[in-house]
Amino acid sequence: MMSNASNIADLTWVEYRHRLAEDDAIVMIPVGALEQHGPHLPLSVDTLLTTEITNRAAARIGALVAPPVAYGCRSQPRSSGGNHFPGTTSLEAGTMTALIRDLINGLARHGVRQIAVINGHLENDAFLSEGIERAMVELHRDGLSDVKVLKMSYFETISPETIDTIWPDGFPGLALEHAAVMETSMMLHVAPGLVHMDRLPDEAPADIPPYDVYPPETGWVPPSGGMSPAHSATAQIGKTLIDEFVTLVAESVGGEFR
Ligand SMILES: [Zn+2]
Repeated sequence: MMSNASNIADLTWVEYRHRLAEDDAIVMIPVGALEQHGPHLPLSVDTLLTTEITNRAAARIGALVAPPVAYGCRSQPRSSGGNHFPGTTSLEAGTMTALIRDLINGLARHGVRQIAVINGHLENDAFLSEGIERAMVELHRDGLSDVKVLKMSYFETISPETIDTIWPDGFPGLALEHAAVMETSMMLHVAPGLVHMDRLPDEAPADIPPYDVYPPETGWVPPSGGMSPAHSATAQIGKTLIDEFVTLVAESVGGEFR
């Protein structure tokens, strides 16, 4: 895609060391999921969109980007459809917590002092916080007290003005936007070849109660896995959303660290 940000996986270790020494480096880590997104979008949506937004934001502020975390925390019926769909391959909370703790520890011990974790899957959020907190405790204990981590779930930053423009009849809410207008539009803008608009189901939005039950009630979720209709998705809406998210991520990370 069109980013010219530096992915640290593409650098040699010598180049990477040089980049860390040369300026006040920021490393951004995109975190997504492998998760069903209806019959019309690929399983990679959360990873693909988060990586794209992170790459574009990083290019604006001169940050480095680490390889994405391509698996996410356990998907929940009320927000993402749930784990009963084939392909939704989830991490336990403890796995995610340990994984992000290890990544932050590893980056920091080689000299990175400014790390931004950019999340694109709702259920990851609290466990990313937990992993970051654990890394901070360990780094402080070892005398590395100048490491700072920013965590941001990019989709939470959508502005009221954009919501009113895209959903004039009322915003269904972030949970019901799973595989719906927001994500489908962004995919049409970023990776149209992976979107199958001819396979969109004709279903009513999910009717979800304000609580969870265990074992999960899979019948709450529409059979297709989409939480609300995506027929009004367009690449133009996707561009509006991506541009807004890239700007907010770039301004947040750039503003906090420089
Ligand atoms: Zn998603």
